[in-house]
Amino acid sequence: MASLRAAAAAHRIRTERVKRMERHVQQDNEPLNPGDEAPPDAPGVGEDICRACHGTGKVEGTQCTVCGGTGKVLQGIGGG
Ligand SMILES: [Zn+2]
Repeated sequence: MASLRAAAAAHRIRTERVKRMERHVQQDNEPLNPGDEAPPDAPGVGEDICRACHGTGKVEGTQCTVCGGTGKVLQGIGGG
């Protein structure tokens, strides 16, 4: 059945695409949290207390979405 073979091929392509995405995600050392202004290895960037959760990592009992529950955010400290 030609249609079956086509479906199998499509499935394989989809699977390979997912694998590639997973590998791409794994290559990233650390995903930035929404509150992070820059990657940690960028020049002039330092950690600061998250203003949303005040360094507790939690807001109203749930994980802070700004710092990702770390209580810290990365901010540019150099004035340029
Ligand atoms: Zn926070």
